[in-house]
Amino acid sequence: MDFELSQRCHDLQQSLRSFVSETVLPQILKYEQKSVLPRKIFRNMGTLGFLRAHVPIEFGGLGMGTIAYCLFSEEVSRAGAGMTHNGHFQTIKMMTGYGSPAQRDKYLRRLLDGEYLAATAITEPDVGSSFASMKTTVKRRGKAFILNGIKTLINDAAEADIVNVFARGPDGGEISVFLIEKGTPGFKITKKQDPIGMRSSPIYEFELRNCTVGGDQLIGESGMGLKAFFSAFNFSRLGNASASLGIAQAALDRTLTYLKGRQVGNHKASEFQGLRWQMAELDTQLAAARLLRDNAALLEEAGRDISLESARTKLLCVEVATRVVGCCIQSTGRFGCLRDNLFDLYYRDAKVLGTAGGSLEVMKNNIARRLFEGVGT
Ligand SMILES: Cc1cc2nc3c(=O)[nH]c(=O)nc-3n(C[C@H](O)[C@H](O)[C@H](O)COP(=O)(O)OP(=O)(O)OC[C@H]3O[C@@H](n4cnc5c(N)ncnc54)[C@H](O)[C@@H]3O)c2cc1C
Repeated sequence: MDFELSQRCHDLQQSLRSFVSETVLPQILKYEQKSVLPRKIFRNMGTLGFLRAHVPIEFGGLGMGTIAYCLFSEEVSRAGAGMTHNGHFQTIKMMTGYGSPAQRDKYLRRLLDGEYLAATAITEPDVGSSFASMKTTVKRRGKAFILNGIKTLINDAAEADIVNVFARGPDGGEISVFLIEKGTPGFKITKKQDPIGMRSSPIYEFELRNCTVGGDQLIGESGMGLKAFFSAFNFSRLGNASASLGIAQAALDRTLTYLKGRQVGNHKASEFQGLRWQMAELDTQLAAARLLRDNAALLEEAGRDISLESARTKLLCVEVATRVVGCCIQSTGRFGCLRDNLFDLYYRDAKVLGTAGGSLEVMKNNIARRLFEGVGT
């Protein structure tokens, strides 16, 4: 296995890094504090090709593979994980995997250009981890589908041009996925919520009341929601993991620079052995987590089932990020305690990544299930 970045991926990483430093970081706090989506920045990311880098060439992408998506999530998260817009990437994944040619013609180019933004809606007031007990229903009427229910905690739902909604039905108890365009009658945003983290990707509750869409808005076939979910979420959990790496690396880099410049009495803070050893340990944990992510990305790219690898990767990367950022706050004294230095944003985002997109407990359940499979009693 080759974990060396190709020249194209290396160039992508450098472009992302410059873009984030020059364009995103100087203004991120204004979006983060008010929980507002930086739509112009999102559009720029599309124009610069960042949203399409990982997508196969036959679908209008640059064909750089899953690792390009990971690099995107990692680099933009230097300005917080709210920049990763996972719902958008989940929608692209479902559309390339299961969308009809007509759906791809209508939406895909716009999603890859950043002209359109997409959101993914699964969670309901009474349903989070327990995906299978979803209550939103869909009924067939002629060639149309009618959806009813409430979705909550949905990133970018108000700003999105299309929301892919998971609902139970129309044939029996299985779950199906529908593309609902902004402005469709019966789709109504009812609440803006106030999360502790990932605030530059606002979250909303919305209601579907007899929301009617044509048969051409069903992704794939009816009843294949679970399949679409696993394909999109095994992929996007690598995005969650990469976001964690980006946050942790940004915190560590800031800490090293600060400690090197900080005079404490007769010493530079970077001379204290306790701090030096701690930095060495954090760096090692990050390097190990990144290797696990790279391995999972290669397997995903090869079309393998990565349900185990994506759960392990998300679990380790989020736990490492939380530890790294916490230690960086402690090691930098007053510097880590000031909001301008972004450590609190990184910490809050790392904590949210432990819940959004599938909680760490659910990741552990997925891993444990595989561990005990085939073990005799
Ligand atoms: C900021 C933010 C953004 C989000 N964005 C989206 C979005 O865009 N789209 C979307 O659909 N959803 C979104 N979510 C929802 C998210 O996916 C859910 O919060 C998550 O799946 C957990 O569900 P829950 O909060 O209902 O926790 P619950 O399912 O109520 O779980 C409560 C606690 O029990 C644990 N737990 C649950 N089941 C088990 C089990 N079997 N064994 C052991 N422990 C268990 C959980 O890990 C958690 O600690 C977002 C959430 C947040 C916080």
